[in-house]
Amino acid sequence: MKKIFYAITICSVFIFSTCDILDDINIFSLQDDVILGDQVAAEIAADPYNYPILNDPTLKSYINTRIFQHVLSSPKVEHDDVFQYKIEIINDPNTMNAFAIPGGRVYVYTGLMKYLDSEDALAGVIGHEIAHIENRHSTSRLTKYYGVSLLLSIILGDNPSAIEEIAANLFVGLAFLANSRSDEDEADSDSFEYLKDTRYYPGGVKFFFEKLQDDGYVESNNAVATFFSTHPDPYDRITNVTNFCTNNGYSNIKYDNTTYTYNGVTRSLYKTEYTNNIKSRL
Ligand SMILES: [Zn+2]
Repeated sequence: MKKIFYAITICSVFIFSTCDILDDINIFSLQDDVILGDQVAAEIAADPYNYPILNDPTLKSYINTRIFQHVLSSPKVEHDDVFQYKIEIINDPNTMNAFAIPGGRVYVYTGLMKYLDSEDALAGVIGHEIAHIENRHSTSRLTKYYGVSLLLSIILGDNPSAIEEIAANLFVGLAFLANSRSDEDEADSDSFEYLKDTRYYPGGVKFFFEKLQDDGYVESNNAVATFFSTHPDPYDRITNVTNFCTNNGYSNIKYDNTTYTYNGVTRSLYKTEYTNNIKSRL
């Protein structure tokens, strides 16, 4: 398997050289994120065996227009003037996962989309991945990994091609990496904030975990284990997102409900729309 470094979005493995001073530093520019993302996207596109991109313009257009762009329209998404936001669907019904690469691309597997059952749930996942991109978790991790040596080499100007070298040399597979817990919490929190500005239930990111939990998959299913290796701590995350909802006045619901209540108004979770326009095409 040709390994690529897109998984830097979601790594804690990298942090074996963590230095506290670097916790809040990202030495990369926004444009660097775009450059890195373009290179990773090219590697993904060149590897259809491992990353078969679904060719269904109708489905892609629906998800992009109806959900992806809708979430991006939140004013809390700040880098959409620089980042090239784009969503792709990977045709792998056995993988329940989604990931993001620097600079704006989100990839969602058909296995995850088949398992979800509402637009709100998918919007929650998409918001979570957009939050990884907006918060630039990838390049923050890279900053910690490469640390002071890269910082100095760039500042001193003795390694002008450092970005390209990083992109070329990071051969780390997605399956081996896990998000840091703090990055996951931040992505869940920001997904909640983005979705507050949309038609969708702000806590939608937790529906996937709740469904897995109720279906008894959390401890046993291999496909799910892969997801949890990159998106850890499902129980705590359900609790955290539930608390966001409760503290902000949204009714506490579970994935199998069809509506929720906010400010005395009952709203849809768009399950029928999901079935008719998304699930029926998978
Ligand atoms: Zn994540």
